Amino acid sequence: MTAAQFDFIAVGSGAAALVAALTASVAGLKTAIIEKTDKIGGTSAMSGAASWLPANHHGRAAGHDDTPEEALAYLRATAPEGWRETEDALWESFARNAGPMLAFVEGHTPLRFALTSEPDVYAEAPGAKTAGRMVAPMPLSRRLLGRYAKALRISTLPHILTYQEMIENDLYRKPVRTTLRFAPQLISRLIGSERAKGTALTVGLLRGCLDHGCQLMLETRAVALAQDPAQGGVTGVIVERGGRRETLGAARGVLLATGGFEWDRERLRQHFPGPIDRLGSSPGNAGDALRMAEQIGAALAHMDQALIYPCLPTRYGGELHGMPAPIHMEPNAIVVDRHGKRFVSEYAIDLGEALDRRGADGEPTHLPAWLISDRSFLRPALRWYARYDPDWLVRAPTVAALAERIAVPRGALTATVERFNGMCAAGRDEDFHRGETIFQKAKAKKRPMLSPIQKAPFVAMPFNRCILTTKGGLRTNAEAQVLRADGSVIAGLYCAGAAMANPIGTRAIGAGTTIGPNMTWGYICAQSILRTNRPPAG
Ligand SMILES: Cc1cc2nc3c(=O)[nH]c(=O)nc-3n(C[C@H](O)[C@H](O)[C@H](O)COP(=O)(O)OP(=O)(O)OC[C@H]3O[C@@H](n4cnc5c(N)ncnc54)[C@H](O)[C@@H]3O)c2cc1C
Repeated sequence: MTAAQFDFIAVGSGAAALVAALTASVAGLKTAIIEKTDKIGGTSAMSGAASWLPANHHGRAAGHDDTPEEALAYLRATAPEGWRETEDALWESFARNAGPMLAFVEGHTPLRFALTSEPDVYAEAPGAKTAGRMVAPMPLSRRLLGRYAKALRISTLPHILTYQEMIENDLYRKPVRTTLRFAPQLISRLIGSERAKGTALTVGLLRGCLDHGCQLMLETRAVALAQDPAQGGVTGVIVERGGRRETLGAARGVLLATGGFEWDRERLRQHFPGPIDRLGSSPGNAGDALRMAEQIGAALAHMDQALIYPCLPTRYGGELHGMPAPIHMEPNAIVVDRHGKRFVSEYAIDLGEALDRRGADGEPTHLPAWLISDRSFLRPALRWYARYDPDWLVRAPTVAALAERIAVPRGALTATVERFNGMCAAGRDEDFHRGETIFQKAKAKKRPMLSPIQKAPFVAMPFNRCILTTKGGLRTNAEAQVLRADGSVIAGLYCAGAAMANPIGTRAIGAGTTIGPNMTWGYICAQSILRTNRPPAG
């Protein structure tokens, strides 16, 4: 039985779904947003909401010339080998729509973005920019959501500071000084219930959706897709809510934006063999879109791609969880592989890709990996976070003893630390050129990037993959339409965000290469639906 008829249904309430719902509802489509948990916003609400959006109006206003063509040149220059053949049309679509999406969102919601100070990660590559492509939301009051404010998904990250305030300051190393410095803003934000990052993103987007008539249904889980028996196109979603199953009709289209599949442990193990330290995302993200769409013949791609970033241990919903933090960017820290050898510049933001490098057998080449440092590593934050997971931090009086404790070859680790200390004295990382790219220099914030590891106790922390979101999923075309393995379109079915086969993949080419593109794919999906001529809901 069809319980309700909509023009458009967005499955999920993260950034991709909300931007799509906003775009559709502004155009007058009768739109529903369905969310399986009792919380709004998914991983997007937890995120830093740092968004890589080339050729946007904030960059232009600040005098940074940029064009979709330059963004496309950059995407081509930085892509993994062989990706251009399948992804070029999607890159072109993203590059063309990123700027218009941001202008549209600011034009129809209370959300406002500001530029952050981060250059492109490969700022030396063709088409790259040293400023103007990274934006993040300004604070917004949670009260804008009225009765929904309490249902906002909370984060493991502090959202009271903006993304730019966080990267300009040193909350982890200097918590007291940073708090005092921002005391007036913190007090005013506490009083006004204002938050930045993913909270502001979700508040602003959802406010815009509700203002344009979208219907939000929480604790409503999509379990299958309804199809037209004759044509095979998708006509709606079968959902479970309140212990009942019902069909919600969608005359113009259904968007699957259910986030990554990282909480489906079996699928995760299949595509990410080897050690995984933690997951950092919203626990509702279990690959439901993939299961639903596979059942009707959709193709999957890029299943081994993910946003991988160092994490500190924390608790979320009573369980051990990962909180992303740049703990690798400490002057007196190195990352070593299972042989006790360095394999990457620790100041590389895209070191997730190096951590996840696979051998011919598909197994990770470097893992288990370790972060090695000494007594002065990340104080005082280290002790605070170590209490969440007593096994996380390993200490020893000498480097050799540390090697024994973590089962890494003793001679190799000692030699690695000695060589690193020697390079610190010489002032240059001859092996991995740490701190020598434009991006890494910007990240160092004028702090030294090389400082010897020499004061006991020596410390080691597991440094395997912390997955913030998987990036493999449903294969789409440049219009966000879901495809079958033979390349044909499944009519009425769209995918955006972490649930789609991400055309950029694991490699971080900007400091926030998932949220910005995810929002853009939500926008592309709705624009694509608006161009189709399926009849509206009766
Ligand atoms: C702490 C943290 C910080 C991050 N910071 C950044 C950053 O600064 N910049 C950046 O680019 N990226 C960042 N990321 C990654 C980024 O947040 C995610 O890639 C992005 O939010 C995914 O958006 P989405 O809309 O695809 O999915 P999500 O925001 O995860 O939303 C998916 C939603 O779908 C719901 N859902 C799942 N299945 C169903 C179903 N069957 N029926 C109904 N609903 C369903 C889920 O419950 C969830 O609410 C961060 C990640 C984390 C964990």
